[in-house]
Amino acid sequence: MSDIKKNVKTLLEELPPGIDVVAAAKTRTAAEIKEALDSGVSIIGENYVQEAEKVLPEVGTPAKWHFIGHLQKNKVKQAVLIFDMIETVDSWDLALEIDKRCRPAGKTMPILIEINSAIEPQKHGVMPENARALIEKISGLSSVRVMGLMTMGPLSEDPECARPFFAKTRMIFDDLKQVPVPGTEMRYLSMGMTGSYRVAMEEGANMVRIGAGIFGERE
Ligand SMILES: *Cc1c(COP(=O)(O)O)cnc(C)c1O
Repeated sequence: MSDIKKNVKTLLEELPPGIDVVAAAKTRTAAEIKEALDSGVSIIGENYVQEAEKVLPEVGTPAKWHFIGHLQKNKVKQAVLIFDMIETVDSWDLALEIDKRCRPAGKTMPILIEINSAIEPQKHGVMPENARALIEKISGLSSVRVMGLMTMGPLSEDPECARPFFAKTRMIFDDLKQVPVPGTEMRYLSMGMTGSYRVAMEEGANMVRIGAGIFGERE
């Protein structure tokens, strides 16, 4: 059995039901992505529109494609043709552009709102206190649908460092579930990567984004 097959098998056996795995595929080849799909992963995460466009025709195998990078406005037009979900919406302008590009295609794009849970000025994501206001504004757009939240948390060797920020994002998620914004859903909570997905699940993640843990360490 190949390493990718083994990794996916071990991972899927470990995860409780109801957790979606996004295979974070930046820098990976179409062959590697295909192998992950053949092993039982069904969602591929890409950080760059060009990278997705490059591998997509070669991968062939049916899959869901999630955009997990920072989406530039000038890439939205291509992105809405490729992706089944955009996990990283953090501004009104970006949501508006996605809505505008989806409308002619008669498509409604599921999106997650990225939360800058660690309040790091250099990072993407909406500040926690502004999340509800942003979601309320976006809820008025007819061709995007808010379906949950995503966060990165601080990058650290120690996953325990991320725990308070996952917990904070979960609180925002729960609050938006208890007092919902009409026209939105709080279904997906995307948090945790290879080093931190266990902690993220303990804090309520139901979608985890795994790169190295599936494909091996990046060079
Ligand atoms: C690369 C990446 C991941 C996966 O990271 P690993 O540590 O390789 O599991 C998850 N989310 C995002 C947004 C990424 O860019």
